[in-house]
Amino acid sequence: YRSLFENMNAGFVLFEVVQNEQGIPVDLIVIAANEGFGKTTGLKLKDSVGMYLTHVLPGIEKDEADWIGTYSKVALSGESIQFEQGSELLGVYYSISAFQAGPKQCAVTFVDITERKNAELDLIRMSRIMKNSQEIAHLGSFEYVAATQTTIWSEEEYRIYGLDTDGPSPEYSVMLEKCIHPDDAKLLHDTFMEAMQNQKVYELEHRIVRPDGSVRWVYDKAHPYFDENGNLLRYVGATLDTTERKRLQEELEMLNAELELKVKQRTAQLESANKELESFSYSISHDLRAPLRAIYGFSQILAGRHRASLDEEGKQYMDYIVESSIRMEQLINDLLNYSRLGRKTVEIRPVSLKKIIDAIYDDFKPQVDEIGGKLKVHDNPPVISADESLLRQIFSNLVGNAIKYRRPESVLSISISFETVPDGVLIKVSDNGIGIPAEHCEKIFNVFQRLHGEDKYPGTGIGLANVKKAVSMLGGTIYVESTVGQGSTFIMEFPNKNPESHE
Ligand code: ADP
Repeated sequence: YRSLFENMNAGFVLFEVVQNEQGIPVDLIVIAANEGFGKTTGLKLKDSVGMYLTHVLPGIEKDEADWIGTYSKVALSGESIQFEQGSELLGVYYSISAFQAGPKQCAVTFVDITERKNAELDLIRMSRIMKNSQEIAHLGSFEYVAATQTTIWSEEEYRIYGLDTDGPSPEYSVMLEKCIHPDDAKLLHDTFMEAMQNQKVYELEHRIVRPDGSVRWVYDKAHPYFDENGNLLRYVGATLDTTERKRLQEELEMLNAELELKVKQRTAQLESANKELESFSYSISHDLRAPLRAIYGFSQILAGRHRASLDEEGKQYMDYIVESSIRMEQLINDLLNYSRLGRKTVEIRPVSLKKIIDAIYDDFKPQVDEIGGKLKVHDNPPVISADESLLRQIFSNLVGNAIKYRRPESVLSISISFETVPDGVLIKVSDNGIGIPAEHCEKIFNVFQRLHGEDKYPGTGIGLANVKKAVSMLGGTIYVESTVGQGSTFIMEFPNKNPESHE
């Protein structure tokens, strides 16, 4: 036996059955064994030959009866057996064969099959992971076999189609007829045929019909695989149930449409309220002018003709009335112009900013020179889509303010710069003037909002309100960044639908 089994790449042992007086097997004697047996059992071979199994394997109590029972049966009955033993916990697996090798003798071989078993287990594990993840993601998979024109489906694919997971793999033509929505069947077939002809990826979102009649949306994507001669072997792909996503998408689209409608309605309401307000302030300021003129006229007559009959206090009051009516006329005129601005028809066409700024430059240059200041316009003013007269008004107000709100202690410096941004153009008008406290930076754009008394800086507080209105009539936005005692930058952004090159 030694010569026969010494080099065997497996464990081998020959047992002889030990019986008691009643002939019942009680132990096994090791008659021969090879190195492999030593390895599988952890025994030193020279210590085991000639020994009772219960002595050489004292730790096998639990299995003892099985071993003795199993191998005695083989030794006595002559019936050979084969089985696999091992566990994931131990990490080893054996294929065991036992046969009768002589009277009352049983030969046993142990072949280590751990590697094969592990590969098998890995395969089982992988397919379990795939099955579970497909179930979780509602993602089925399929394979179209070109040779047989059949499709092989994963369990989840069956579930998506509402079919019994144990059912047969459906033939392509049967599937097309029975499972695909009749309105999409042709599209699917054409798309798939075209993909096959061009050896391309097949991709389609379509409807399916389940046996209970319910319709669902799915998204298919499959890649082709070829043999070495370029013949199509199969398409392997995945199917995603997109019903819920589609439903949400439709809901979202509906909500969006509703929202858009609401926004339109609100905007229309707002526009008409705005118009109403504008015509109200227009007629108010318009109608106020006549009585005001009367007050102004009569108070002037009074101040002229009857001044002598008034005492000092009376003369002072008279002067206040005349001054106040002049101021009021200014305010009313400004308000009237403000409401007129809103009624103006906006004529959007390409406007050369260079032309506008040049005109502004010419208008303000003498004043700036007289003060000893600088007005700097950066290179390349762009051409933008806008209304020329609104732009003029904007620049004129901003540059006028920059001059008015200068700091006497430093040399006035005004700069106008441009920047192209996605979908529009940024224009900045900066000065090194008195600046605006942060808490007032928003309200200065409202009608008649001023931060100073008339005596210090003349004005009515309508200029920036006009600027803001003009900017918004051009579809733009404006805000100011400022530091008190250092200067302000008015930043405007205009949409520029058809930007042209810089001049
Ligand atoms: P007005 O100049 O007639 O007061 P505006 O509407 O043009 O009216 O300006 C509103 C207020 O904003 C001004 O009273 C002033 O306090 C402030 N302001 C406007 N432009 C500037 C500027 N460039 N620097 C500092 N303050 C400014």
